[in-house]
Amino acid sequence: MFDVIIAGCGPTGAMLAAELRLHDVRVLVLEKETAPVSFVRIVGLHVRSIELMAMRGLLERILERGRQRPAGGFFAAINKPAPEGLDSAHAYLLGIPQPVIVQLLEEHAIELGAQVRRGCAVADFEQDDDGVTVELADGEQLRSRYLVGCDGGRSTVRKLLGVGFPGEPSRTETLMGEMEVGVPQEEIATKVTEIRETHQRFWLRPFGEGVYSVLVPAAGVSDRAQPPTLEDFRQQLRTIAGTDFGVHSPRWLSRFGDATRLAERYRVGRVLLAGDAAHIHPPIGGQGLNLGVQDAFNLGWKLAAQIRGWAPETLLDTYQAERHPVAEDVLDNTRAQMELSSTEPGPRAVRRLLTELMDFDEVNRHLIEKITAIGIRYDFGEGPDLLGRRLRDIDVKQGHLYDLLHRGRGLLLDRTERLTVGGWSDRVDHLADPTAVLDVPCVLLRPDGHVAWIGDDQQDLDDHLSRWFGKPAN
Ligand SMILES: Cc1cc2nc3c(=O)[nH]c(=O)nc-3n(C[C@H](O)[C@H](O)[C@H](O)COP(=O)(O)OP(=O)(O)OC[C@H]3O[C@@H](n4cnc5c(N)ncnc54)[C@H](O)[C@@H]3O)c2cc1C
Repeated sequence: MFDVIIAGCGPTGAMLAAELRLHDVRVLVLEKETAPVSFVRIVGLHVRSIELMAMRGLLERILERGRQRPAGGFFAAINKPAPEGLDSAHAYLLGIPQPVIVQLLEEHAIELGAQVRRGCAVADFEQDDDGVTVELADGEQLRSRYLVGCDGGRSTVRKLLGVGFPGEPSRTETLMGEMEVGVPQEEIATKVTEIRETHQRFWLRPFGEGVYSVLVPAAGVSDRAQPPTLEDFRQQLRTIAGTDFGVHSPRWLSRFGDATRLAERYRVGRVLLAGDAAHIHPPIGGQGLNLGVQDAFNLGWKLAAQIRGWAPETLLDTYQAERHPVAEDVLDNTRAQMELSSTEPGPRAVRRLLTELMDFDEVNRHLIEKITAIGIRYDFGEGPDLLGRRLRDIDVKQGHLYDLLHRGRGLLLDRTERLTVGGWSDRVDHLADPTAVLDVPCVLLRPDGHVAWIGDDQQDLDDHLSRWFGKPAN
């Protein structure tokens, strides 16, 4: 008997397993592939995801394996630098191969005590009042208290659950791959700049050591049912650029569409959905993996609280209440970005206008805070603007605030030095620090770093500790 079975060891499943293990939850991750994915797709980790890594002590490990790039230029690939003074100690993008992220998160989960079984596909399940019986493709049955489907866009768990996945089917196909080129970088840069004046779904981006990420429309080449070939890329490059840049030695080649869909519900009884299993959208802006990892970060401590028995009655349902609107917003911004990438005169005019508007700091800031997910504000009710937002990594007397969050517990940051977490001290840490760089007296942080309370009154604090962390221990 496990507490939680997770279907799928992609970035979302691995992150969730680690988060649950911080609270001693017995976790089994079932992954249908026998070996980790070998193709190297370089993805962008945006600011909020980098912050999550810092909050769990993984920052150094992840920085070593990725390449830091400026945070700007991601909204519809409009070439504008990030505004000055972005509200984060980690205001950059980290380009990193997706398999490396998965490997790091999986290792972290295993170090914390999670079990990962590869070559095990979840084929069926049945839930009852006490738990879920999960059936594998080979007929083996396993039992757990909860099941979480982190099994990607074609999620078996979502389908078996009968949860609707409304949205739009794919209409526009794009080829994307990584390969080496046969001409000098300057020659490519000049040509790409010229072509991108009119073609937004076209790029050759250097990733170092002669490897380029190549993106071209799929229209007209290759059979949708077959994997794309290098020749498909060459043909499209020649059609659009008049040269195929001598591309060769592909690392991986893929085709993606712009299907955009969102699960109607994230939870049915003891079964939940997270990551691509709950939402799919085109990769423009590079948000899918980030969104999934952040789902896991939101869900982990809540599901752990439910299992440990201290969760307030509605806590687990706040997962959907908070994350569904975030996904809705990401889906919408990718729809907008796809429109802005069209070669039609109307969308091109809108793109030019938006490019001008992004010279206004507030517009640029709004868009980058969306893409990087640092602008998210959960609805915790009436209160100051900081309530419901995540707190940046500020300096505190022990060093960095995020270093105090590695164990995934709540934290009271108390500048008054007269408050206490009392009977919640088994779930919430207390840091009395009058020097903390905050313009409010005290904040209560949830384990995901979001501000759950602001104030200086003990009774009010106790009410909010109850709201988020359940009944006091004594
Ligand atoms: C071309 C391209 C570029 C992208 N670039 C970016 C980017 O720059 N930034 C970004 O944030 N996102 C990017 N994405 C999106 C990102 O790759 C996905 O959003 C991310 O992989 C979702 O993670 P996940 O763990 O939810 O699902 P997945 O990565 O799909 O993992 C699901 C796992 O579940 C397993 N599984 C499936 N079915 C079962 C089953 N029945 N039982 C057990 N296991 C099962 C699968 O084998 C897989 O390992 C890109 C996507 C594409 C296509």
